[in-house]
Amino acid sequence: MVKMVDAPEGIEGQGFFATSVDKVIGMARANSLWPLPFATSCCGIEFMATMGSNYDLARFGSERLSFSPRQADLLMVMGTIAKKMGPVLKQVYDQMAEPKWVLSVGACASSGGIFDTYSVLQGIDRIIPVDVYVPGCPPRPEQIIEGVMKIQELARNESLRRRNSDEYKKMLESYNIQTS
Ligand code: SF4
Repeated sequence: MVKMVDAPEGIEGQGFFATSVDKVIGMARANSLWPLPFATSCCGIEFMATMGSNYDLARFGSERLSFSPRQADLLMVMGTIAKKMGPVLKQVYDQMAEPKWVLSVGACASSGGIFDTYSVLQGIDRIIPVDVYVPGCPPRPEQIIEGVMKIQELARNESLRRRNSDEYKKMLESYNIQTS
């Protein structure tokens, strides 16, 4: 059965429906997020289960995975990130076009997890901004799906002006990310 997403809020009458551009674009973005899976260890296996037929991330319009940053708008970081891997992750983030969102999946990506050692990055938010954190070691597929749904909520309700705001630019600059 094909499930249609709900129309955004608007004014409806006989033969017409009016809403704002923000809401239409938000609806389209939220239901066609293209994830880039940056999976380095066990949390990545949970992601594989999330993509499988039982959980089926395709139900949310996100079955099209991208291993090219330029064709992705949701960076999903899943697994332990060694400090040596940090610059690679940052480069992947830099290469993604705006608008883009970041989902940190599991304890390792979010905080280093159990690996409180000299070689492991203690949370990816030390190098890139994160929109949603999914707790767990590992999180179950249901939790990963909930994280994706939170990102959908952000995408659906984001103002078109947000990415051009001084506040957003300052946030990127705090991560030494160039804004043009
Ligand atoms: S959070 Fe747990 S399951 Fe996920 S990558 Fe780290 S050790 Fe593995």
